Amino acid sequence: MDRELLERVAEALRRRGYEATVAENSASARAEALAEAESFSTIGWGGSESLKECGVRAALESCGKAVLDHRTDAEIFFLSANAMTEDGLIVNIDGTGNRVAASIYGPKRVVYVVGRNKIVSGGVMEAIKRAKNFASPPNCRRLNRATPCAEKGLCADCDSPDRICKVTVIFERPPTHTPTKVILVDESLGY
Ligand code: SF4
Repeated sequence: MDRELLERVAEALRRRGYEATVAENSASARAEALAEAESFSTIGWGGSESLKECGVRAALESCGKAVLDHRTDAEIFFLSANAMTEDGLIVNIDGTGNRVAASIYGPKRVVYVVGRNKIVSGGVMEAIKRAKNFASPPNCRRLNRATPCAEKGLCADCDSPDRICKVTVIFERPPTHTPTKVILVDESLGY
């Protein structure tokens, strides 16, 4: 059933102009990510728990690749999504904006690795809600931010100086000069 959903989302992404594949598990996604990186020597890294759980970073480093954090001058940039709709809209929310910047313009190629848990059945507002109520609370805890969501687990649209939600990007299509691939993984990854 999940696989069927992922195949449908992949088809929606292709209609929007992305390359999109479905990986049956983390190991397949890791192999695909490594193949993507093979012809590039500088790899940009979007600070993703999903990619960490997949073991992509460790695998890239063990192949001798230079993995650079959040760099627009990397040749290929890897990241995940905070949320994605079934019809292929991708939502990412940043505090600094360097992750989303690198996913829009700069690298020659962008690759998302996205677990099935990131897909929402509603529209873009559901995706933003998911990002703020499921992704931001654990991110705030991980980053030691004193925000309401870190404490209570739900977004309060805060005015905290520690707020991490400052830039919300909705990708409707791959940006013009940035060929983008999405690897959907039939596993729950990251948050
Ligand atoms: S706006 Fe504030 S409370 Fe809401 S998710 Fe972002 S950091 Fe947390």
